[in-house]
Amino acid sequence: MRAAVLHEIGREKLEVLDDVEAVGFGPGKVRIRVRATGLCHSDLSAMNGVLPQPAPFVPGHEGAGEIVDVGDGVRHLKPGDRVLLCWLPACGSCPACRRGQTRLCLAGFMNAGTPNFRRPGGDVFGFAGTGTFAEEVVVDAGCAVPIPEDVPFDIAALIGCGVTTGLGAALNTADVAAGSSVAVIGCGGVGISVVQGARLKGAAEIVAVDPVASRRESALGFGATRAVAPEELADAKQRITGGEGFDYVFEVVGKSATARTAYETTRRGGTLVVVGAGALDDHLRLNMFELFFDEKRILPSLYGGGDVLRSYERAIALWRAGRVDLAGLITHRVPLTGINEALDQMRTGTALRTCIEI
Ligand SMILES: [Zn+2]
Ligand SMILES: [Zn+2]
Repeated sequence: MRAAVLHEIGREKLEVLDDVEAVGFGPGKVRIRVRATGLCHSDLSAMNGVLPQPAPFVPGHEGAGEIVDVGDGVRHLKPGDRVLLCWLPACGSCPACRRGQTRLCLAGFMNAGTPNFRRPGGDVFGFAGTGTFAEEVVVDAGCAVPIPEDVPFDIAALIGCGVTTGLGAALNTADVAAGSSVAVIGCGGVGISVVQGARLKGAAEIVAVDPVASRRESALGFGATRAVAPEELADAKQRITGGEGFDYVFEVVGKSATARTAYETTRRGGTLVVVGAGALDDHLRLNMFELFFDEKRILPSLYGGGDVLRSYERAIALWRAGRVDLAGLITHRVPLTGINEALDQMRTGTALRTCIEI
């Protein structure tokens, strides 16, 4: 079958090959025919080495499709079921799961060193244990979450990562207060989902911050009250908050430099929410006086910071009721053979989300 492979970390282009086989099928596993997958910024971060990932590998972790086959012991799924892929499945029995913090379950990472695919030339890994830039994937049954009939594959794919991450940061982690002031730094698919979450919670001011003009324009359509370039943020802080800083600032880039700006843009006693996925060697510097004296809360948000399955259901309910616009996040569509075009659209910031139809 066909899949897009990155041969080594640091290369810019994927090669679409038709000699790839999804491996590992057996008890407790399912085989999925992928129908739609979104290109998430984390895929680029794995390709360029910011996020740890063995190579060669098939990127992609935000996907949806149909069950083709189920292994022994899998009772909640059958061939033909429509599912979205969860790249962070919860085991249900570890201390994190028992506490209700299912996104902190590490069970899904236990297979991280196991190849997901094979080619005549050797083993190929899947990003985050999935690898959805492929016609087929084999994953643990817990990674396949059934979706209702009315949810199209492209929408379901987005809920599998970007939408859940962004909405959850505003709804679960920050629990934005009505009437508050919010700034969102980084307005791709995840940042726009934060904007929509802040709007749902009744934030008074939502300032979208992004260097790309088309993204700023989009953010206004999704509920931002203003949109500014990064160099205009200090001025916006002055005008909107009288210089005090915003009640909530969301860092959706994953870099220490933007996190530092976000910290300085948060008011004393306000909340900085860290959503972006950054590198192991990129250190955020804070001094002990400011940390203590300014009492700013720093809240990291992993995969939306809530119960993942509940967050999916909530996103579907909000989408069905027309309270969030998910279709509008998909600004570009390409077939799998157009994957390098999709990567370019992500790098230049022209796309919020590119949907790869497989
Ligand atoms: Zn667990
Ligand atoms: Zn993602």
